[in-house]
Amino acid sequence: MSTIDDVKARLDIVDVVSSYVPELKKTGRTFKACCPFHNEKTPSFNVDPERQTWHCFGACSTGGDVIEFVRRREGLDFKEALRMCAERAGVEIRPPTPREAQQREQYERLLQANEAAAVFFRSAMSGTDAELARAYCEKRGLDATTLETWQLGYAPVGDGPDGWRTLTDHLVARGFTEDDLVEAGLSIRADSGRVYDRFRDRLIFPTRDARRRLIGFGARALHPDDEPKYLNTPQTPLFDKSGNLYGLDRASDTIRRNDRAVVVEGYMDVIAAHAFGFTEVVASNGTAITEKQMDLLKRYTHNVVLALDADNAGSAATLRGVEVAAGVADKRASISLGYGGLISYQEVLDADIRVVALPAGEDPDSLVRKDTEQFRALLSSAQPVLDHLFEVVTRDVEDARGRSRAVEQLVPYLGRIGDEVVRSSYVQKLARFAQVDEATILRRIAEQRAFAQRPAGPRPVATKQEVTAAKKERAALPDGETQLLQLLVQRHESRAAGLILDPGLFEDSLNRAVFDAWTADSDLVEHADTLDEDVRTRYDELCAATLPDYEPRHIGEQVTSIANEVRSRRQNLRLLTAAREQLQAIRNARQPNTDENGVAAIGELAEEFKETTRRQRELTRTYQVAAGLRARGDEDPMERGGA
Ligand SMILES: [Zn+2]
Repeated sequence: MSTIDDVKARLDIVDVVSSYVPELKKTGRTFKACCPFHNEKTPSFNVDPERQTWHCFGACSTGGDVIEFVRRREGLDFKEALRMCAERAGVEIRPPTPREAQQREQYERLLQANEAAAVFFRSAMSGTDAELARAYCEKRGLDATTLETWQLGYAPVGDGPDGWRTLTDHLVARGFTEDDLVEAGLSIRADSGRVYDRFRDRLIFPTRDARRRLIGFGARALHPDDEPKYLNTPQTPLFDKSGNLYGLDRASDTIRRNDRAVVVEGYMDVIAAHAFGFTEVVASNGTAITEKQMDLLKRYTHNVVLALDADNAGSAATLRGVEVAAGVADKRASISLGYGGLISYQEVLDADIRVVALPAGEDPDSLVRKDTEQFRALLSSAQPVLDHLFEVVTRDVEDARGRSRAVEQLVPYLGRIGDEVVRSSYVQKLARFAQVDEATILRRIAEQRAFAQRPAGPRPVATKQEVTAAKKERAALPDGETQLLQLLVQRHESRAAGLILDPGLFEDSLNRAVFDAWTADSDLVEHADTLDEDVRTRYDELCAATLPDYEPRHIGEQVTSIANEVRSRRQNLRLLTAAREQLQAIRNARQPNTDENGVAAIGELAEEFKETTRRQRELTRTYQVAAGLRARGDEDPMERGGA
């Protein structure tokens, strides 16, 4: 028996879920409660004790096993969730390989060094040399509570012949080696071998990840001519600047609850926004959000508002951005999403990305302090990214030549829109603006697509037999999850489309672990030996499976279409199960039964039947959207009513 099976066999999902969701109540064969992962008034979160699974029929529309529940609830990765469940179940986890143990030890050491440094910075804040830092905080309206909440500190400079070693000396005296400090990014080793403090005479912002681990620091200059204005921890085993969002540790709960994240640019913006009650705000620590940061956010919400300052919102750099699918997936940490990337991301992920441009000369920090209500109103008036782009491109266009240039700029974006109804509304809009007929715009989109999709070279095409075989194979599988993963791990062309899949699609915890490892490592095949044994075995199986020889340029579409199929098949299956249960319950209730319990049961049943009808309606809608029969915005008014 594998560790995972052992852990699952010893835990009862109802117990585990109840400890997080005390109001979980037995109704019929299953248990129900309001979903812990999204806001709702009628319970659509279901725990099935027989299958030992959970499922949210509401907004999340996903589910999984007990490990997956703990993983989501605690914001952990698979390994950590398994460890936590194993502890609870009293199962001994296989001892880590020497390499894993070494790595874990290193992480632990670096985290401790960071924590010790934070304590040092914090206490230095009251020193005489921190006067400028304190004055700066006061000027920016940060009170003692705020300083404490965000653990702001001061990095002293320290002088003398052995200067610039205040922190380094302090931590070495506490048992950290210079190597640890250099590795944690706290100290720098000069070519001469001398080790000295990285942060000197700066205001310090400790940065924690979603799990509240202190992974790095941001440091602001206090003198106007100190460069750079902001200095960050460099890339370390713990810190990946472009894959991290400042404030996520304090914002994640609100983001999940409100189902919305607001992304701003800087540390001070986050701190001010939180102080004024906007606790779903995080910072991208740069002007453009990266793909990795989006991936991080999508664990909590699919609704993202980007609050950009007036310059960035309309700048050429933001327009251009770097494409998600530019074939540099291994450098994705540094890929920032321009508007094109955001639109692609939104398309595949079914996310809602909006942009709000702040008034000229303002940033969230200044605006929220000056006029909180205006800030709130701005956030709620954020435009869909494409509308914003439209406005930026068509603004100040005066003549025919300008209109033509705007069409050139917008056509590639319109081509990315998958939903025909949405696309056609933008085509109309652009045609009206350019004063041409819609057919002209459509022709331009088609030409642009043909250009963008030119194959790189001759490739073998899947034969008819292979396609048929693939279809058969797919039908024989219990669930498309596995097939989807096979495609991801075997074909590198699948990466761009795979990276933006919702991880929630993988309900099997082993599959989910492979998917997470695959998203985190573009070269997993080289590093497969670092995977946990169970995960490794599954990964090898996936790699060994036979796949049809898909044409490379179709692989992205293939990934998306299998994912859609998995989703709708699951919905159908669940609906069918629910309907069968209802039927059985109705039959039971028809038995002559005159006691009070029987009468109450019939009442409850009527309620449940209503709920199933509601779900069925929802499902039909989801299906229609997936099949392109209906626009996404075409909401069922019943659903929005009370929310
Ligand atoms: Zn839910």
